[in-house]
Amino acid sequence: MARIYNFSAGPAVLPEEVLRECAEEMLDYKGSGMSVMEMSHRSKVYDQIIKDAEKDLRELMNIPDNYKVIFRQGGANLQFAEVPMNLMKNGKAAYIITGQWAKKAAAEAEKYGEVIKVASSADKTFSYIPDCSDLDIPEDADYVYICENNTIYGTKFHTLPNTKGHELVADVSSCFLSEPVDVTKYGVIYGGVQKNVGPAGVQIVIVREDLIADGPAFKQTPTMMNWKIQAENDSLYNTPPTYGIYVCGKVFKWIKKMGGLEGMKAHNEKKAKILYDFLDQSKLFKGTVVPADRSLMNVPFVTGNEELDAKFVKEAKAAGLENLKGHRTVGGMRASIYNAMPIEGVEKLVAFMAEFEKNNG
Ligand SMILES: *Cc1c(COP(=O)(O)O)cnc(C)c1O
Repeated sequence: MARIYNFSAGPAVLPEEVLRECAEEMLDYKGSGMSVMEMSHRSKVYDQIIKDAEKDLRELMNIPDNYKVIFRQGGANLQFAEVPMNLMKNGKAAYIITGQWAKKAAAEAEKYGEVIKVASSADKTFSYIPDCSDLDIPEDADYVYICENNTIYGTKFHTLPNTKGHELVADVSSCFLSEPVDVTKYGVIYGGVQKNVGPAGVQIVIVREDLIADGPAFKQTPTMMNWKIQAENDSLYNTPPTYGIYVCGKVFKWIKKMGGLEGMKAHNEKKAKILYDFLDQSKLFKGTVVPADRSLMNVPFVTGNEELDAKFVKEAKAAGLENLKGHRTVGGMRASIYNAMPIEGVEKLVAFMAEFEKNNG
């Protein structure tokens, strides 16, 4: 069996030791005589799995007691609706548009109230993060929304926007657990896990208690999308994505072993530096993002020649470096180098790029 280096933007690479453990436990989870897939979500053994997962996540992110953690299903796309449905009590919210995902979130929110786009980087194909130090945010806006790491364009908010006292809501799908975070700066942090934390099918919503104490913004909000009900039932209102949560729990333990979020950050900075340093001196490949706003997770780059880009993607795949094709809206290449991508994967990629440049430069 040969595993490739998988640079997919998501679903994406998971730690090999987590996959091995899952394989070992597949038929008989810790003497239960069952796979986790076959267990009741109300069983004692599963209860321990989901409680441990929440406990480890709380420890990793240092989540204060007045924040609820909810494991959800439905994709980050469902959260685009859940956010306004739960929070838009004044019927108004400010959105910062830094890419496709923020745009989609704003479009969905517009179905429920007034969306004010207070900043955007659309003018330069989302290659930078706009200055958000002094935005014109309406007094009565319910929240300010960001997509913290832009998976497609490869930008990241390294400084959070000045929300002028408004609640900050962040989609962290592609930077979840990649570096330390101060949860108290946010009203809501949410993300799909299939980029950096686990298998597709699980979302994690971390929400400050007081924001959901009175229930959702609209009485028609479906029960399944009501954060208060989900939180009160400890993510067990209905059958949650049980197996996915189990895998996430294992990834949390793996991150703890890697030194927690400080350790993850050092590991991710090291990998990103190898790739960005190469891009900065290359005469063939060019990074597409303003250096100050570069993501540690998603690294888009181009040669400027579509045929050469396609050749690169094809030859890289033959060399065991897969899923390097850029998003269809950007073109070129994109290397997603999430937590579970080993340093050797990035070193191999850079060596391959250098060789390709020598042969095609
Ligand atoms: C992938 C992604 C999404 C969409 O996730 P789904 O689970 O497919 O709905 C949303 N936001 C960001 C930042 C993403 O990277």
